[in-house]
Amino acid sequence: METFKYSRAQDVSQAVQAGAQSATSQQGAQVRFVAGGTTLLDLMKLNVERPAQVVDINRLPLDKVEKLPDGRLKIGALVRNSDLARDSAVQSDYAVLSQALLSGASAQLRNMATTGGNLLQRTRCMYFRSTETACNKREPGSGCSAIEGENRTLAILGTSSSCIATNPSDMNVALTALEATIHIQGTKGEREVAIQDFFLLPGNTPHRETVMEPGDLITFVTLPAPRPGTKSVYLKLRDRASYEFALSSAAVVAEVADGKFRRVRIAMGGVGTKPWRSLEAEKALEGKKVDPAVFREAAHAALRDAKPQSQNGFKVELAKRCLTHALTLATQSA
Ligand SMILES: Cc1cc2nc3c(=O)[nH]c(=O)nc-3n(C[C@H](O)[C@H](O)[C@H](O)COP(=O)(O)OP(=O)(O)OC[C@H]3O[C@@H](n4cnc5c(N)ncnc54)[C@H](O)[C@@H]3O)c2cc1C
Ligand code: SF4
Repeated sequence: METFKYSRAQDVSQAVQAGAQSATSQQGAQVRFVAGGTTLLDLMKLNVERPAQVVDINRLPLDKVEKLPDGRLKIGALVRNSDLARDSAVQSDYAVLSQALLSGASAQLRNMATTGGNLLQRTRCMYFRSTETACNKREPGSGCSAIEGENRTLAILGTSSSCIATNPSDMNVALTALEATIHIQGTKGEREVAIQDFFLLPGNTPHRETVMEPGDLITFVTLPAPRPGTKSVYLKLRDRASYEFALSSAAVVAEVADGKFRRVRIAMGGVGTKPWRSLEAEKALEGKKVDPAVFREAAHAALRDAKPQSQNGFKVELAKRCLTHALTLATQSA
């Protein structure tokens, strides 16, 4: 790891001012915030991230989960993944989020990992994590080693000729199905970004993963008030039962009445270059009967635009089965 300047932010505006000294907040940023450090420090040890300055944000008062008067849930950016998964409001009203968090990493990592850090965790594409190989995300313009290389675990939706890396987070998939809002404090004040607009497709600029700008600090995330009669489920399929990223996952948030889907939100993980909301699957389900044939139709719709690579064609059927089974679980007692 190269030498870097370390400081502790005492308040939000001090952190924002420090971050604003960087020319970018994306790959290659000169200033980085550190929260749990479980992504950043790994990448610094690998020389993939080489910030000149690291600003520790752990003292900021952003570690609470609160119910707002209008029924929304406010989650501080520094709430640890383990605390969020165990929160009673999350367990009762947003089960999909608790299940997604508990399916990720290990207990020790979840005790360190934060809401803000999890949102911004980086891809596990092996070429991104090795400075020996070409990677457009790590070194813009250098090429993509995965397209003709090891791509079994990589994306089949939202890919480009520049990058096919997946967003690896489980939490982000649940937040997408829950239609979370990301609250950001930047140099020009506060702003809110719907999670659907927060992550960017790789296109020709895979090093640019989100709408974050220099100085931007995620302060909290809000979830809409829970809707009565809604059930939610997260299902994750992977090579081994723990300590492994998703090959395919599905988050379902479904409101069923009189045996029909009244409202449903679908997101998938392990298959997209960003946490993948499937409007196609939602359209195929809304107003329809709770029925296995309808689930299968929705799963076909979700994967219609899939573009598999040389080693990950199996993901198309896997993702369909994953979504079909998640829909079965979410509607079992409905
Ligand atoms: C062995 C291993 C297995 C794992 N398995 C899984 C898994 O199965 N599923 C899964 O979802 N994840 C998994 N993870 C990833 C883990 O969930 C993330 O590393 C973690 O959530 C990152 O959170 P952090 O607080 O440690 O982030 P940090 O490392 O502190 O930060 C990550 C990035 O976010 C930025 N950042 C952090 N907080 C803020 C903020 N408030 N505002 C602006 N920028 C911010 C940092 O500058 C940095 O760029 C695994 C990680 C490891 C090491
Ligand atoms: S898939 Fe993306 S992250 Fe992986 S080598 Fe290609 S450009 Fe890099």
